This record gives sequence, C-alpha cells and structure tokens, in this order.
Amino acid sequence: MADADDHKRTIVYGESALAYIKRNTLPAYPRSYELWYTYSAGYNHGLNRAINQVIQEKGRLSTEEMQSIYGQFLAPTRLGDRLNDVGNKVSQEVEGIVDTLKMSADATSDYGNSLEKAGAKLKSLKDPEKLDRFITNMVQATHNAVASNKQLEAQLLESKRQIESLQANLETIRYESLTDELTTLNNRKHFDNTLERTIAQAKESSTSFALLLTDIDHFKKFNDTFGHQTGDQVLRLVALSVKQNVKSHDSACRYGGEEFAIILPQSTLEEAAEISEKIRVAVMSKELVKRSTGENLGRVTISIGISTFRPDDTAHSLIARADDALYAAKRGGRNMIKSEKDLDDESGSRVA
Ligand code: GH3
Ligand code: MG
Ligand code: MG
Repeated sequence: MADADDHKRTIVYGESALAYIKRNTLPAYPRSYELWYTYSAGYNHGLNRAINQVIQEKGRLSTEEMQSIYGQFLAPTRLGDRLNDVGNKVSQEVEGIVDTLKMSADATSDYGNSLEKAGAKLKSLKDPEKLDRFITNMVQATHNAVASNKQLEAQLLESKRQIESLQANLETIRYESLTDELTTLNNRKHFDNTLERTIAQAKESSTSFALLLTDIDHFKKFNDTFGHQTGDQVLRLVALSVKQNVKSHDSACRYGGEEFAIILPQSTLEEAAEISEKIRVAVMSKELVKRSTGENLGRVTISIGISTFRPDDTAHSLIARADDALYAAKRGGRNMIKSEKDLDDESGSRVA
C-alpha cells in the first residue's frame, strides 16, 4: 500500500524531471535528474528560485548553469561531496605542513652553515673591531633562526587548529550519515548495525533483549486529509514521544516511512510492554494543532509489536516476530500493543 502511494506521488515528479531535461536538451545524468526532480517536487525553494531566474533571463538552462545550481543547493547535502571536500582540505593542510617543515629545515641548515663558517673564521680573527662585527652578525643569524622557528611554531599551531576543525566536520558527517533528518532519530543503517551488534552481545553473554516496532494508525488518511507536510510534523511528534520514553542505552530508529523500531538491550518482555504503553499513551494524549492556521487536527494513535531475542534468532526472525505482533495489534483494532506471546496464544487457540 505504502509503496503504491509513494509510486503515485513520486512518478509525477520523475516524469516532469525527464520532461525538463528533454525540453532543455540537457544530458540525462543522474545528477541532472536529481536537480530537476527536486525542482518538480518544489521543496527546495532556493533551488527553484535560482532555476526560475535563469529561465526568465535566458529561456533555458545550460549544463554549466545546472552544475553551478547543483553545487550551490544540492551538493552541500550530499555526504559523498562533503566527504570529498574534507578530504581535499586535509591534503591541502598536509601539503602546507610539509612545505613549512621544508622551509624550516632549509633555515636550520643555513644557520648551521653560518655557524660552521663562523667557527673556522673565529680562529683567525684577532682584530677586536672585526671580532665585534662578527659577533653582531652571529647574533643576527641566531635571531633569524629563532624568528623562523617561531614562525614555524605558529604555522604548525594554525595547521593543528585547521585539522581539528576538519575532524569536527568529519564527526558531523558521520553523525548525519547515521541520523534520520526528519525526526533526528537514528536511521535504518544505524538500526541495522545496532541490531547486529546487540544480537552478537546477547549471544555472547547468553542474555536476551527486546525489540519494538511501531506504526502510526491510519496515517495515509491523515496525510490525505491534512497534507504531507503536516504528516511530517506528526512524524516528528511521534518520534519525540518515543525519545522521551526510552533510556540512553536504548536505540530508537526511524525504520521506514512512518514506522519506528526501538532496541531495548536491557529489557524483558514485561518491561518492554511497560515502555510501549508509555509511548502509546504519550502519542494519543497529544492534541494536534496545525501551526500555520491553529486548526485542530484531532489525535493520532500508534500500534506496537514486541518481540524478544531467542538464542537461535537472526535479525530477520526477530524483526518478523515483532512485525507479526504489530499486525496482530492492527487486526485487534489499532491503538494497542501486542507481543510475540499474543501470537503464541493466537496460534495456540487455533490449534485448540
Ligand atoms: P495502518 O493503520 O494500517 O497502518 O494504516 P496506514 O494508513 O498508516 O497504512 P500504512 O502504514 O501502510 O501507510 C503508510 C502511510 O504513511 C503511507 C504514506 O502516506 C505515509 N508516509 C510514509 N512515509 C511518510 C513520510 O515520510 N511523511 C509523511 N507525511 N507520510 C508518510
Ligand atoms: Mg506502515
Ligand atoms: Mg500505518
């Protein structure tokens, strides 16, 4: 269902993007497509304004103009491009350090040469006036060496500062690559890594842990009634209810469009059920108000499925049980929590 909706919504942007590329006789590289797709979707206002301005002035967009607009509005959001940028800056810094060290080595060797020559000359110097001039020169050469050392120190300090700032940039990129932009929860990649790690730890220590899967009830209808952007606000609100009810050792992730997954490494099934109940109640207690108009949008509810790790589980089987429990909650009428235990009971009652 969700796939069919996304298909309908996005195919229009895709077709419109191709039409722009054809009309402007531009190369149909993936990046051209991304640019025109974003233009068609209309959510990047700066990009649309920049394109409209060029079209207004010249009637069409050239490849160069397309690249420039891409660089300005889309490249900064691409992790690959930003990593490249950090990589380039690190090489520049390292080249700078190598140059500085070379300069310093030359200066030290000049100073060494002066000292050597001076040593030889000193032996033949008897005239006090010449000796005085000689000492003055030596003092000057020493001053120069000290100054060049100070300059080297300052340059190295500056390089250290630059590299530290690049390190912080890398940390931001790493954070973003594991974070969902809309909700600031962990993203799917983070979830997959964390689940694998938690399973390995549970196997090693012969312990268990709990997994929750949540899904917003009738969210499609909400989107259709109030619009996708208001739907996005609701996603943020549900994410907040999740965040406020889990502990720092837990891992809350945006698993799919309107589905969240929460790994509770230290919880039993009963504890996970208590946490789920808190999240469920937190979500349904919030009265939704549209920011722009103050319109009352009612409330949303969520359903939750819980599974706990068994020694022979894989990530796939553990998720499948939580998913089955989630759909049991949907079948049961929504706005409720079901666990793998309820599934056992269901199949048990079928057998009986
Ligand atoms: P159910 O109670 O059975 O879960 O009904 P539902 O309508 O929520 O059905 P389903 O979970 O299959 O629908 C998912 C819908 O969520 C489809 C889409 O409209 C919406 N959705 C998915 N991702 C996003 C998103 O990022 N933003 C917004 N606003 N809506 C999303
Ligand atoms: Mg869903
Ligand atoms: Mg749903």
